[in-house]
Amino acid sequence: MTNGFELGPIRPPSEASSVLLRITRNCPWNKCAFCPVYKKKKFSFRSIDEIKSDIDLISDISNKIDSIEGYDSGNIKFNDLRFTIPDEFVKKVMFWKTYGMKSLFLQDADSMVMKTPALVEILTYIKEKLPTVECITTYARSKSISRKTYDELALLKNSGLTRIHIGMESGSDEILRILKKGVTAQEHIDAGQKAVKSGLEVSEYFMPGAGGDKLSDENAIETARVINLINPTYIRIRSTVPIPGTPLYEMMMNKEWFPVSEEGKIREIKLFVENLHGITSLLQSDHIMNLIEEVNGEFPADKEKMINILDSFLNMPVDGKESFIVARRTGRVRFLSDFIITPEIISIKKYLKENYESIDDAVSEILRNYI
Ligand code: SF4
Repeated sequence: MTNGFELGPIRPPSEASSVLLRITRNCPWNKCAFCPVYKKKKFSFRSIDEIKSDIDLISDISNKIDSIEGYDSGNIKFNDLRFTIPDEFVKKVMFWKTYGMKSLFLQDADSMVMKTPALVEILTYIKEKLPTVECITTYARSKSISRKTYDELALLKNSGLTRIHIGMESGSDEILRILKKGVTAQEHIDAGQKAVKSGLEVSEYFMPGAGGDKLSDENAIETARVINLINPTYIRIRSTVPIPGTPLYEMMMNKEWFPVSEEGKIREIKLFVENLHGITSLLQSDHIMNLIEEVNGEFPADKEKMINILDSFLNMPVDGKESFIVARRTGRVRFLSDFIITPEIISIKKYLKENYESIDDAVSEILRNYI
C-alpha cells in the first residue's frame, strides 16, 4: 500500500473545491509575526519526480473510481473498493469529482520561489494527466513574484496557472515592518501590477486590525492606496486575531501592540472601502474571523451597498452591537441581516460581562479557540 499523495496544512477557503497538490513544503520566509502555520517547520522543495508521482496517483484514483460499475459519487462504499491507498485519499478525489475536477491548488506558502522552468513542467504535466482541470491556483509572496520577470509570469499564465493568492496584509510600510512581512508596500505594488498585467488573476488579502489600534486608520488608508494601484481581481478580508505562540501575541501580552476591537475593525474596513477608487475588483469577506460576512461585492457598483452594510452595524446602539458580536462569535447567528436579540443572547452576554473585563476580551478568547 502506498501512503497516498502528500498534503500541506492549508489552502484558501475559496479553494474548497480544488484538489491539493503540494509542490513545496512549508514557508521559505516563515517570519510573519501573526502567522502560526509553519512555525518550527523547515522549508524544502519537492522534486519534480515526487510531484509528478502525486499527479499520477490523483489521476489513477480518479480513473479507478470511474471504472467502478454503478459508481455514484453520493453512495460509494469505500470498503468495497480495492484501492491500495488509505481511504482518506480516495475520499479527497471523490469529493473533487463531485465538483467536476475543475480546479487544483498548488501548496504550500510560496510557489513562486520555484524556478520558472520547473513550474512550467509541473503545470504542463497537470494539464496532460488531469485534462478536466481548468483553474490552477497557488499562494505566493509579493517578494518572490517581484523577482520573476513579466515574461516569466506570462509564461506561467500560458502554461495553465490561473490565479495567485497574495498575503498583502497591509499597504503601510510601518505595519509591514511590525508584522515582519519582509516586503515593502512598493514591492506589493510592483508584484501585484506585474501579475495583473501578465493576465493572472490576483487575490490580495487585507488584514483589518493588523496595525493595532494606533495604526488602524493608516492600515485602512495605505492598504486602499496600494490596492487602488494594483486593481486585483479579488480583495479578501482576513481580520487580525493574535494567536498564542506567535510573536504578535507576545507583543500584545507585552503591551507593545494593542488590538483593535471588533467594532474598530468594522470602522477600519469601512474606511478601507471608502478609500478604494478606480478599481473593478471583487471584494469578499469569506473567512470566519470576519465579524460581518456579508460585506461582499464588485467595485464600483457595490461600493455603497457594502458601506451601507457596515453602517447598519456601526449605527446600532452599543447594546445592539455587543449583542450581535456575542451572537456571531458564539455561533448563534451567521449574518447581520438574520440577527435578532433573543433571551439566550442576553443571558450569554450577561455571563460574559460578569466573567471578563469586556465583551472584546471574551470574544478574543473565543476567536483564539476557533483557530
Ligand atoms: S509568508 Fe505566509 S505562510 Fe509564510 S510566515 Fe508569512 S503569512 Fe505565514
